Amino acid sequence: MEKEYLTKNPNQTKKLGEALAKKILKTRPRKGAFIIGLEGDLGGGKTTFLQGFAKGLGIKEKILSPTFIIMRRFRIRVNSRKFADFYHIDCYRIQRPKEILELGFKEIISNSKNLVAIEWAERIKKILPKNVFILKFEFINRDRRKIVLELINGK
Ligand code: ADP
Ligand code: MG
Repeated sequence: MEKEYLTKNPNQTKKLGEALAKKILKTRPRKGAFIIGLEGDLGGGKTTFLQGFAKGLGIKEKILSPTFIIMRRFRIRVNSRKFADFYHIDCYRIQRPKEILELGFKEIISNSKNLVAIEWAERIKKILPKNVFILKFEFINRDRRKIVLELINGK
């Protein structure tokens, strides 16, 4: 099941991200990392969404568009017995999934203490597990973005 949102400014998109992070913090422990995959248009708001998401995890560092960096790790700062680290991965610049594997991707996603967000997840579909939560971002006009979220536990 999915839910569709239309945001009218970057702040609304950040708020959505923050709300999703808080929801994920409350989910039951699972095998392996909790992975969200962000797909869709360039400028669609994926990085903006993750800025709010990181805020929801108590992360103070700025989440950047990793133009030159494919992966960054942040310590999760809210009290959580479940999660320790947040990984921000951006596949925009990668040519093949192997480049992600070389960064230790398999270990990262097998650790249930990790929360992993992957921009341009569609580019590494081949190496993604099945239980990834997919978020789709669509550029409507200068200020509007359509965001489609998979529901977590029906909410
Ligand atoms: P992506 O990571 O999907 O390429 P970004 O989040 O880096 O997209 O860029 C989105 C750009 O669009 C930012 O410059 C942001 O300020 C702008 N923007 C305008 N309206 C919105 C909105 N409703 N939601 C998110 N970003 C928006
Ligand atoms: Mg981005």
